[in-house]
Amino acid sequence: MYEHLEYYGVSKRVIDAMNKVDRKLFVPAEYQDSAYIDTPLPIGYGQTISAPHMVGLMCEYLDLQEGDKVLEIGTGSGYNAAVMSQLVGPSGEIYTVEVVEPLYERAKKVIEQLGIENIKMFLSDGKLGLPQFAPYDKIVATCYAKEIPPALIEQLREGGILLIPVGNEYIQVLKRIKKYGQKITEESLGHVRFVPMV
Ligand code: SAH
Repeated sequence: MYEHLEYYGVSKRVIDAMNKVDRKLFVPAEYQDSAYIDTPLPIGYGQTISAPHMVGLMCEYLDLQEGDKVLEIGTGSGYNAAVMSQLVGPSGEIYTVEVVEPLYERAKKVIEQLGIENIKMFLSDGKLGLPQFAPYDKIVATCYAKEIPPALIEQLREGGILLIPVGNEYIQVLKRIKKYGQKITEESLGHVRFVPMV
């Protein structure tokens, strides 16, 4: 299904993980026919499930490894969390937070039905991170921030990676932040389009 994402630079390992998660299960009934098209789709409440190429690229940029402990801001449909859960394996953990209650409930139901055990879901404000389980090897936001919330950098492990779209409703850049002691490095990975972090 997702073999062509190789042309974006997505690795075979990430493509294999995506092929194991049926995107149709995460898409509302009225968009089922479009479930495999490489485009974002509405999931209600003004939110969207990201395009498959964006999910693949983000997993690649995060360099997800077996055993990684990951925090995701913006559970949405739960699709990205499900793909990441394949990549970190049973020894890894995905913590994902969502602010819109009905989306949180729906994603929880799908993840439970699929029997995925290494995803923990929370209804809370992602700007604050999820301090009770910090530090994380990787943190990813699937909504854009005007400025990087300091809590996310604080909750990153030494040598960890934070991936976050930064900008406004017109222009957003995907940023990758790495933390080494007091030293923070920041790279720009190109233009993206996400819904806002509220
Ligand atoms: N990863 C999702 C994409 C969801 S879109 C997927 O695979 O489907 C981004 C999500 O971020 C939306 O569901 C939105 O409600 C949520 N969001 C926005 N601001 C947030 C915040 N402050 N804390 C947690 N989630 C937030």
